[in-house]
Amino acid sequence: MIAATIRTQVELPLRFTDGYTADARVFSFDGLVDGREHLAFALGDCTSPHSADDRRVPLIRPHSECLTGDVFGSQRCDCGPQLREAVERIAEAGGYLLYLRQEGRGIGLYSKLAAYALQDDGIDTYDANVALGHAEDERSYVAASQMLHALGVTRVALLSNNPDKARQLCSYGVTVVEQVPTGVYVSAANQRYLETKARRGRHTLQLPGSVGSAARVSGRTR
Ligand SMILES: [Zn+2]
Repeated sequence: MIAATIRTQVELPLRFTDGYTADARVFSFDGLVDGREHLAFALGDCTSPHSADDRRVPLIRPHSECLTGDVFGSQRCDCGPQLREAVERIAEAGGYLLYLRQEGRGIGLYSKLAAYALQDDGIDTYDANVALGHAEDERSYVAASQMLHALGVTRVALLSNNPDKARQLCSYGVTVVEQVPTGVYVSAANQRYLETKARRGRHTLQLPGSVGSAARVSGRTR
């Protein structure tokens, strides 16, 4: 894996629509393999361990960009509440939110909207991507791994329900010491989407009235 370097870092005070505030330090990078403008937000006390017996591990969430959910509060997915929760939990624990510019599971914004249109005709979120000529999930976490290495982070607690994130980070040399589940945000508009994520994407979600997948990171095979 090619090494990336920190390009710029600046203070960025955050204020969310519910009034929650957090002090972030945002990083940009040189050398990210996919050429996209991904960001890392340092939150809370995220200083790296200073010695071998220092057991502190930063809490990390790789969050894939979702313009409709993150910015406009779309109820079709749970990205907005997940982002909001991640910022607060990382600010408490100390760590990094990695904001990854891979919209719509990597297929792009316009294709995501096309997939929504297919879903309105009864096709699930994964099959819709395939119907549009994409893979079910095209997200890569190699750039996220480059960012972590540039930040001096090689051991993480991973805030995610998605086993693919842990597997990919591990394959790029980031040790996932612990996987911390996120909350589940069900609305009338996103229940079927979340059930599909649990069933098709093997996300570890416990949904009311459904059978959430109980996939774990360790020992899983696909
Ligand atoms: Zn979303």
